[in-house]
Amino acid sequence: MNRSVASIATVNRNLDSGHSLELQRRHTSDCPSKNKGPGDTSCTCPIWVYGRFNDKRYRRSLGLRDWSRAQKRLDKLNEDPQTIADPRTLEGCIEVYIADCRARNMEDSTITSYQRTLDHLKIYAGSRKRTLIEDIDAELLGGFRSTQKP
Ligand SMILES: [Zn+2]
Repeated sequence: MNRSVASIATVNRNLDSGHSLELQRRHTSDCPSKNKGPGDTSCTCPIWVYGRFNDKRYRRSLGLRDWSRAQKRLDKLNEDPQTIADPRTLEGCIEVYIADCRARNMEDSTITSYQRTLDHLKIYAGSRKRTLIEDIDAELLGGFRSTQKP
């Protein structure tokens, strides 16, 4: 079976739910399998979920390199859509932003630094009952900034 036929089969199987998600490895620049494409899973590069969810394009790093663990996580995503990042929440936006940083191959140390700051923001906002992105305003960010080291 060639690859395009396989893709069509995946879409058909999941048409009712509006979901069609699949795992792929996102090869690093020094990976020996990088020229074999995302279908080659013999390496230990980071695993991403690609496809459509609720009829929207979906793309997210699982933060995993172990294929069987990633498969279990994907099964969970298909069973319980609540575990999918909600873009209306600060938490969901942070998740999408960090995944995008990874997609742009930023340095791990930079991503870790962003993640740490944004986690602090999430905790700060949560302690003030602000969890939706529409609750985040200049006043809240000003208050948050004053808690951070320069
Ligand atoms: Zn690889």
